[in-house]
Amino acid sequence: MGMKSKAEVVIIGGGSTGTSIAYHLAKLGVEDVVLLEKNYLGSGSTFRCASGIRAQFTDEANIKLQRYNIEKRWKHLSEELEYDVHFKQTGYLFLATTEEEIEAFKQNIKLQNKFGVPTRLITPEEAKEIVPPLNAEAFLAGAWNPEDGKACPFRVVHAFARKAREMGVEIYEHTPVTGIIVENGEIKGVKTEKGVIKTGIVVNAANAWAPIINEMAGLSRDFVPIKPYKHQIAKTEPIAPGQIEPLTCPPAWNDSYVIQDGEDGGVICGTGLEKEPTSLDDVQPTYDFLREVLKWATRIIPALKYVHVVRQWAGFYAKTPDSNPAIGRIQYVDELYIAAGFSGHGFMMAPGVGEAIAELIIKGKSKVPLDWEWYDPHRFERGELRSAAFQIG
Ligand SMILES: Cc1cc2nc3c(=O)[nH]c(=O)nc-3n(C[C@H](O)[C@H](O)[C@H](O)COP(=O)(O)OP(=O)(O)OC[C@H]3O[C@@H](n4cnc5c(N)ncnc54)[C@H](O)[C@@H]3O)c2cc1C
Repeated sequence: MGMKSKAEVVIIGGGSTGTSIAYHLAKLGVEDVVLLEKNYLGSGSTFRCASGIRAQFTDEANIKLQRYNIEKRWKHLSEELEYDVHFKQTGYLFLATTEEEIEAFKQNIKLQNKFGVPTRLITPEEAKEIVPPLNAEAFLAGAWNPEDGKACPFRVVHAFARKAREMGVEIYEHTPVTGIIVENGEIKGVKTEKGVIKTGIVVNAANAWAPIINEMAGLSRDFVPIKPYKHQIAKTEPIAPGQIEPLTCPPAWNDSYVIQDGEDGGVICGTGLEKEPTSLDDVQPTYDFLREVLKWATRIIPALKYVHVVRQWAGFYAKTPDSNPAIGRIQYVDELYIAAGFSGHGFMMAPGVGEAIAELIIKGKSKVPLDWEWYDPHRFERGELRSAAFQIG
């Protein structure tokens, strides 16, 4: 069967964001949705992510959105999508190495508590009860939210796409979008390598590639200045369950983190090595990273010295200048929407962001507690930056 020649809404990008938007549009009764993915579903950042989900942010907008996502969406997602996405509330444990950091943790905890996130300050001894092989002597305190967690990115994308298809969404993989037809400020269609799809509504969910899509609609690439930053992961062979269940991160140690994979029990190790943007074709893993990440990982968990690394890979943090995504309507082209630039936290936001964008398109507003002003895609051209969202998964 050939590709459809028209659709009510076309979504560009088949990661956790695009598939979530597709599902939520179908759920709202939109019968004619097409999702276009240039490669295979999840092939962008989503399948390369560390699977972490948290509400421990340092500003009101992200805390509120993530509190909602965890409480109202992630907890019920497997049931809703009738497919187990392996969401587990195994917590996030941030670790402080100085008194100043403890003070900063206390401020963050106060703000998180204000919005119902039950983070608390714990002692190194308590931290060691949660993560038994932790090098607890190296830390002064921890910020612990037992309600944070993780889910399986592969299952999440599959579950959104499967449900969306069941409700009539057409998903075309290996179908790069090559142009957007705009006449007098209105969208008329989307060009692909396989033909044109007539449509009046487009959602740019292309994350690191979103500036290219914006350019296709006649905007400057810098309108939403998203840049790809390489981020890598080294993963070990499986270890006994229950050893490093929470994402465990001392931010002062170069944003390094370890977390036991919820699927196979291997340990995912990351660190903030790359500080400059790279090119969109550079997902090459490096030996420098391996050396750096293992140095930090074995300081956090000394016993990892005796565990084999079995895999390594790289992907993009698609970063805006303030590390917060651009979510909303683009005013220069009628019915052009964007949800992109998620840095290290787009996977965890996908359910609520998909719901919010779908409601914005269909109803003009959303019941999701998403602060549209905070994420406004027009903030960069106004020179407004938000306080940088904390980066780590
Ligand atoms: C190492 C690493 C660890 C991470 N850890 C976490 C974590 O623990 N928790 C978390 O929440 N986030 C994490 N992230 C970030 C997370 O992966 C992303 O924010 C999230 O996956 C973004 O999803 P997305 O759907 O918006 O983008 P993507 O998954 O990048 O999807 C965009 C899609 O658009 C497609 N596309 C691009 N151009 C075109 C075109 N012309 N036509 C058609 N399709 C196109 C791409 O092929 C791609 O599949 C991590 C990222 C990395 C790299």
